[in-house]
Amino acid sequence: MKKKMAVKLAVLGLCAVVALAFTACGSSSSGNKNSKKTTKTYTVVTEPTFPPYDTTDKDGNLTGFDMDMVKAIAKDQGFKVKFKSMEFQSLIPAIQSGNADIIAAGMNVDKDRSKKVDFSNTYCDAGLVVMVKKDNATIKGEESLTKDMKVASQTGTSGATECKNLQKKGQIKQAVILDGFDTCIMQLQNGDVNAVIIDKPVAQNYMQKHSGKFKTVGKTLDAESYAMAVKKGNTALKKQLNDGLKNIVKNGKFQKICDKWGVGNKFASK
Ligand code: GLN
Repeated sequence: MKKKMAVKLAVLGLCAVVALAFTACGSSSSGNKNSKKTTKTYTVVTEPTFPPYDTTDKDGNLTGFDMDMVKAIAKDQGFKVKFKSMEFQSLIPAIQSGNADIIAAGMNVDKDRSKKVDFSNTYCDAGLVVMVKKDNATIKGEESLTKDMKVASQTGTSGATECKNLQKKGQIKQAVILDGFDTCIMQLQNGDVNAVIIDKPVAQNYMQKHSGKFKTVGKTLDAESYAMAVKKGNTALKKQLNDGLKNIVKNGKFQKICDKWGVGNKFASK
């Protein structure tokens, strides 16, 4: 009887040792017992009405230039990513509250935002343009927007700030601030607004896809650049993004992503 018990205990003990060994393996991706190296998964947030940077495929999955760029950086730096979609104005709060790790959303670096998050190096030069219906003969640029006009842009964006400034100055009747750029363009199409203020590369992409409906007028309004953002003080992740970006520019992966999505490569001449 005692002998049986001893055997049972020995078997149980062995099982425990084997189980522990397996658990240890689960959290380690390296063969070295001392370096407990796990592959981190970072949550990347974006707002998907901003093609070609941020959009959805026919099955509703997030896709776009930003997603491909972040995936390439993640591969280069040895971390994993999962993508989450939200409204533009919720992106920074998500980073601040720790609900997300990286913003990749065609987001301009600006002073106000820089107080709330840390930006990576910039990866694209953009600017705002005024978009109108193709047959509009009166609006020739921002300066020809007038007191009777409504101008739309997306909530929380630099375009919305521009629209609100125009309203504040009394130059336009109303800044119409909407959830997504798709809705802004729908309102322009329907004649609910006279113009949309939108990022130039996004306007260009839209016009290519829907030729003949819209045009951009006047000069580019500001020359801010896009960057990824992380939580204030997260220098380690910021460094990984910057190192990865540098590497994919060097090894040609960045150019391939630019070609795939039809956007200019800001590093091309360097
Ligand atoms: N580039 C603009 C901004 O940063 C708009 C970005 C977007 O809508 N995804 O405000």
